[in-house]
This record gives sequence, structure tokens and C-alpha cells, in this order.
Amino acid sequence: FRAEAVARAHDPAATRDGARIEIFANLGSLEEARAAAQAGAEGCGLLRTEFLFLDRPSPPDEEEQVATYQAIADALGGRPLIVRTLDIGADKPAPYWPMPPEENPALGLRGLRLGLARPALLETQLRALARVTGDVKIMLPMVIEPAEVRRVRAMLAAIADAPPALGIMVETPAAAMLADALAVDADFFSIGSNDLSQYALAMDRGNPAVAARLDALHPAVLRLIAATVAGGATRDRWTGVCGGMAADPLAVPILIGLGITELSVPPSAVAETKARVRRTSLASARDLAQAALAADGAAAVRALARTYIEDIG
Ligand code: PEP
Ligand code: MG
Repeated sequence: FRAEAVARAHDPAATRDGARIEIFANLGSLEEARAAAQAGAEGCGLLRTEFLFLDRPSPPDEEEQVATYQAIADALGGRPLIVRTLDIGADKPAPYWPMPPEENPALGLRGLRLGLARPALLETQLRALARVTGDVKIMLPMVIEPAEVRRVRAMLAAIADAPPALGIMVETPAAAMLADALAVDADFFSIGSNDLSQYALAMDRGNPAVAARLDALHPAVLRLIAATVAGGATRDRWTGVCGGMAADPLAVPILIGLGITELSVPPSAVAETKARVRRTSLASARDLAQAALAADGAAAVRALARTYIEDIG
């Protein structure tokens, strides 16, 4: 399986019945961008920009950010680059950005909330991103409602005549449930399954005591993903997945069956994920997804997916 996957790493991936699924990479540095291009990634589905902002005495200025984003875009050789705006909070403090301690940082002033509450960093980042040449798109973390997206659109409109496309991460249950409304203001959706699972299942993603049960294949999480795809489809918005589940072999056919058209995975998982797509058919994946949505727990979903993968060989 691995040899066959590596041999075809640079070919596009489609299901047996011809549904094209884009396989992108999650990146957190320039070196990873080079690795992703070599690994066959069709683009970057999530650039986590925190690497540029943490562990230093002062934030990067606009020029430094442009240089870094441009180098990553160039390393991808013209492939699409989806850059997530800064996603920090009380759990990832920066020395130049003092935050009062929070009892529940996962439920606190983080992601886009922080960006809008204290817009200096977000505005500089948007300015920098608007200057990068290539196929750059901007993605917002921790959205819960359209007004947040509209505020960023207004900021971008004040910065650039032709701003980059603007999408959102769907990683709160609120965003999944409001996907039809968010599709008016957002150009695309990408499921952040790590946080979406944390919030849907009420399990701290950093707590080892619940790690074994924090499973994105729980049917409640799958129903939120289905709602997101359906909401996006009302305005022809595509939905991808950039959380850890995109690289889970059992999740891949279920996500395809739910209507996901882009999977963003670590560079090391690109070739295998493409190979898994090629073994699937959209028609059978849809049946699997329907059964998974009706299952009564994550264990039942995993059993269904295991049987599916054995059957398709
Ligand atoms: C996620 O929440 O699934 C995600 C991709 O973002 P992060 O893991 O950086 O929070
Ligand atoms: Mg997240």
C-alpha cells in the first residue's frame, strides 16, 4: 500500500467513480512548505501562523510577515496557500501581548475574538497577507457568527482594492449550526475537527484523562460536519477538513461521503491519504456516511468504517 501510494504521490486524487478530492497539507514553517511540495501536496489547507508570533520579545512587523508568507507561497510553487490568522489566547501567551490568566482558556478570548477585541495584530497581519502574490486565501479561527466575518471583510476592504478570498474554520458547534448564514459572508469552510470535537463533546483536547474518548468520529461531530457541508452548499461554498481527523484512515471515506472535497493533512500523510481516496467510491462512501450519522457512538462508527475498508480491499 505504502509503495503504491508513494509512486502516485504527485498525481491528483479522485475516487473510483471520479469525484475529485484535493489533498492539501497543514504547515507551520517554511521548511514544511518545501516538504509538502515534495510530498505531493496540492496546496496548503492550513498555515498555522502562530510560529511567527510566539517565543519572541516583539511581534513580527508587516515587512517580516510579507517576506515569510511570500517565501512559503513561493515554496509551494503557485499552489493555493490558505493562511489562518493568528490563533492565540491565554493558553499560548506571547510576552508582548499580556493576557490576564483565564480559568478556561479554550472558552476564553482566543482566535478571532482576540483579534477583533484588540485589532492591532490582526490588522497588520491582514495588511501583510494582502501584499503576498500568488494564490493566497485568508482563513479565520474560532468564528461563531457572520458579524465577525463581516468585520474582517470591512478591515480588508479598507486595506486592499482586491483582497484575498476569505474563509473560516468551522471549529465551534455554533459555526456548524449557522453554516447557511455564514456561507453568505465566507468564501469557504474548513472543519477544525480538533476544536470542533473538543467543544461538541465537552472534552478538553489537552486533558489525557479524556483523550481516549475524544473522537472526531463521534456521530454528534459528524452531524455538525454534515450541517456545515449542507449550509455551505446553499451558496456553493466548498467544505474541507484541516483537523487531525483528515489523516485518520477510517475517517477519510466517511468525510468523502459527507461531501467534503478537500482534506488538509500533515505533509507526511499526503501520499497515503491520496491512496485512500483512490480506493473509495463516492457512491459507497455516501452509504457509509449515512450509516455513520445514524450510529449511536464513535465506537460504532469506527466499526462501520473498518468493515467498509475491508470490503473495498
Ligand atoms: C483544529 O482545531 O482542528 C485545527 C485545525 O486548529 P488547531 O489544531 O490549530 O487548533
Ligand atoms: Mg483549532
